[in-house]
Amino acid sequence: MSDTRHTKLLIIGSGPAGYTAGVYGSRAMLEPILVQGIEPGGQLTTTTEVENWPGDTEVQGPDLMLRMEAHAKAVGTEIIGDIITDLDLSKRPFTAIGDSGTTYTADAVILATGARAKWLGLETEEKFKGFGVSACATCDGFFYKGQEIVVIGGGNTAVEEALFLTNFASKVTLIHRRDELRAEKILIDRLMKNDKIEPLWFHELIEVTGTDMPLGVEGIKVENTKTGEITEMTCKGVFVAIGHSPANELVIDQLETHMGGYVVTNPDSTATSIPGVFAAGDLTDHLYRQAVTSAGMGCMAALEAERFIAEQE
Ligand code: FAD
Ligand code: NAP
Repeated sequence: MSDTRHTKLLIIGSGPAGYTAGVYGSRAMLEPILVQGIEPGGQLTTTTEVENWPGDTEVQGPDLMLRMEAHAKAVGTEIIGDIITDLDLSKRPFTAIGDSGTTYTADAVILATGARAKWLGLETEEKFKGFGVSACATCDGFFYKGQEIVVIGGGNTAVEEALFLTNFASKVTLIHRRDELRAEKILIDRLMKNDKIEPLWFHELIEVTGTDMPLGVEGIKVENTKTGEITEMTCKGVFVAIGHSPANELVIDQLETHMGGYVVTNPDSTATSIPGVFAAGDLTDHLYRQAVTSAGMGCMAALEAERFIAEQE
């Protein structure tokens, strides 16, 4: 049954930015509604140890996100398991349509839809997705006990995924298109010390090979970025970890974006080009993309939304 809900503040997204906005928005007595989306808790639910969240030397990503959810709920955020499929920012109150059939109207909106894993765009990557090709080691690593696996990428995610996969795999090859990693020094150090991991520099994945019946990966073809030489390797799993792009589908035609789709906000602010619409976290951040910076922006967005709503009243 479809219904309409009005709120002063609608928060779209349940990562660190969304939940922090919920905490601050609730404490400002805005009684926010937070719509969680397809991934309640956001990207940190796809990882294991988080070691740079201040106050916790080490915390499991999914646990941290459950704590943030509980905190937002405890102070008054109404948390709804729905996905926004359409958002109209052309007039106030703003209107969002949920997959559930609910229509949400709001005086102010905080966009905290974060980012999603990028793919290489290969036909064979698509073919074997879910059958040997994955972008989430935490979700799928367990299926590769005693097998040989490759990880593609050279950032924090790729290095963390490679390290995590050594818990299951007999060997992990980290394939990177250069010979320099973007990852934090501490992670690179762990990677280099791990006997099960072998880096393959200056190579790019060009094809995933395998069987059709049953569908499954048996190997890959990689190309040397310097010589163009193509080599075949055997492996049972391919983990693609080449970065994330902003989840901007709801607003791409309505808000200004830059640097590959990140929503533009005013300097030192989360205000977007539409008054009353604020953006926080990985959706707007092409530079830092950390849990703590996302949470910080969630706080800013809620404080700015509070000010905006007060001015309207
Ligand atoms: P996200 O966490 O991306 O959450 C986005 C939210 O928006 C999700 O809940 C999603 O369901 C929701 N959403 C999207 N579209 C819709 C829609 N249409 N309707 C409703 N909701 C929607 N950072 C660190 O600081 N430390 C780490 O150790 C660390 N480890 C990481 C490990 C991995 C594997 C990955 C992928 C990232 C890691 N990061 C880490 C980065 C960190 O996870 C992100 O910077 C952070 O989660 C961004 O938070 P966010 O709130 O902007 O969005
Ligand atoms: P990233 O930092 O953007 O790194 C992406 C990597 O993939 C780069 O090494 C890049 O190569 C490579 N790459 C990109 N496109 C490619 C292609 N088409 N073919 C082959 N290789 C390709 O992304 P990320 O590692 O997912 O990290 C995203 C953000 O989350 C970062 O800000 C990161 O700090 C954060 N994060 C933090 C932690 C942590 O704090 N522990 C953990 C995970 C993620 P080049 O280097 O050549 O460009």
